[in-house]
Amino acid sequence: MISTIHPIPAFTDNYIWAVSDADSRKVCVVDPGDAQPVIDYLQSNDLQLSEILITHHHPDHTGGIKELTSRYSCRVVGPGSSGIRGINEFVSEGESINLFGQKFSIIEVPGHTLDHIAYYCDDQIQIEPILFCGDTLFAAGCGRLFEGTPEMMHESLGKLSALPASTRVYCTHEYTMANLQFAAAADSDNTALLERIELEKAKRAAKQPTLPSSIELELATNPFLRCKEPRLQASAEAQSGQTSSNEVEVFAALRAWKDSF
Ligand SMILES: [Zn+2]
Repeated sequence: MISTIHPIPAFTDNYIWAVSDADSRKVCVVDPGDAQPVIDYLQSNDLQLSEILITHHHPDHTGGIKELTSRYSCRVVGPGSSGIRGINEFVSEGESINLFGQKFSIIEVPGHTLDHIAYYCDDQIQIEPILFCGDTLFAAGCGRLFEGTPEMMHESLGKLSALPASTRVYCTHEYTMANLQFAAAADSDNTALLERIELEKAKRAAKQPTLPSSIELELATNPFLRCKEPRLQASAEAQSGQTSSNEVEVFAALRAWKDSF
């Protein structure tokens, strides 16, 4: 059973989530883009790496696999549709994996990349469900569309936002303050959003991570999950100068706006 989920900071704004087993010294890391911060964490806490979960092929999520697997005997789980070196257990939508006695389902979430997957646990052992969603859903934002279409990403975010409101959202980057700045521009009358900005500001001032988030908080404050709201539609249209006839078009306009924000 999982005891703690700890953020290991990497690069300038990545978190490598370290998932600890309550019954042993074993640890799983999610998206180790760099090996050294993981090795330092394991050594200073006398822990043994036994598992690696990968969400997608970008180097800042996979760069540490080679060195970690040369030092530790690890199971490495990742998307079946990718050509990521070092993965020894390929998974796809509808499958599940067992992590320290808990079941994680695989959700395919293409958009940021085509191979992107998320890991979701709702086995009632934890008080709240757990989601590792890489660069798909961020706190108050979403990943850039490097490979997929707006339609794909909108559908992927729809799958994640349909998870239980209490789900804890563990994404990979501390982009929250920049995302909130954009959210405030796109959704300026949203009281929940204004409250969130103050809370997250205080966390950053205290050098705390703003993560994990929750699906409930994202539904209330993340503009990319709120494309059906008339005021988001109005501000997306005002920005793009084009009328949107459906949620995907609102999403596409918001994403393009954020890319140049
Ligand atoms: Zn990425």
